Amino acid sequence: MPIPDDAAARRAIQPVICYPVETLPKPDLATYSRARAGMTKIGETLAPARDAATFEVPAGHIFRISSVEGPQVGDLNLWNLNDLSERFYSGKTRALHGTHVDTGDRLWTSFPTLRPMATIIHDTLDWYGFDEFGGGVHDVIGTRCDPYTGNLLQGGQYHYCCHSNLTRALSDHTGLSLAEAEPHVHDVMNVFMCTGFTHDTGQYFMKASPVRPGDYIDFFAEIDLLGALSACPGGDCGSEHSSDTAPCFPLKIEVFAPAAGTLDSWQSPPPNGYDRSHGR
Ligand SMILES: [Zn+2]
Repeated sequence: MPIPDDAAARRAIQPVICYPVETLPKPDLATYSRARAGMTKIGETLAPARDAATFEVPAGHIFRISSVEGPQVGDLNLWNLNDLSERFYSGKTRALHGTHVDTGDRLWTSFPTLRPMATIIHDTLDWYGFDEFGGGVHDVIGTRCDPYTGNLLQGGQYHYCCHSNLTRALSDHTGLSLAEAEPHVHDVMNVFMCTGFTHDTGQYFMKASPVRPGDYIDFFAEIDLLGALSACPGGDCGSEHSSDTAPCFPLKIEVFAPAAGTLDSWQSPPPNGYDRSHGR
């Protein structure tokens, strides 16, 4: 292909941020940290290695995902506890906050509600930032490891991908059949996963997670939540996933009630204000 004479000039055009977030409603982090400072644990569950667990978090409560035993990545799905059709929207969260999320970023719901469903209020891996390869932690890029892509690329039938783990867990929690539960499973937040895009070819890469036992990330539930977390068969995702070869560890999920009286000024966010008339 001929390169146009003004190729350099075209490439030199400055990028523009797609969604300047200055006008987004700012999370009140001071209130959240007061709620967190005196919080009381009310529940705990463990996502076993290569399997998933579900958990419920009332609005205004806090949930924590912790590394225990060894470095492990988790694939997180979130739904409105009272309406599974309102769920985490990875693509819009990425468009608003970037490829990786950290303290102060929010996880947004699908259309038509498009509202914050959870806010990240503490993260012991905040120090990581972006490494020399362009890798960061907690991505909202990846979709979830699944048996369909595995079959496409390598053939075979592997049942303990995050997609199937999340499907079984949601089915167990709700009583829905596997076939009914599966369409509710959606693109994830990759908790503790270290990923980026290669500088030369722009390919999605992963590398061994910097997470260590004792590390954790805290989320504030903006609405009543049903969560499902899969301890990915990729373990720390340093080599491969979608197989039983990587060392895998459980992930701990804890739910906390906020310190009394700290949320008097907080309100659960209402659904999005667009009137849905779509020009008709
Ligand atoms: Zn996975």
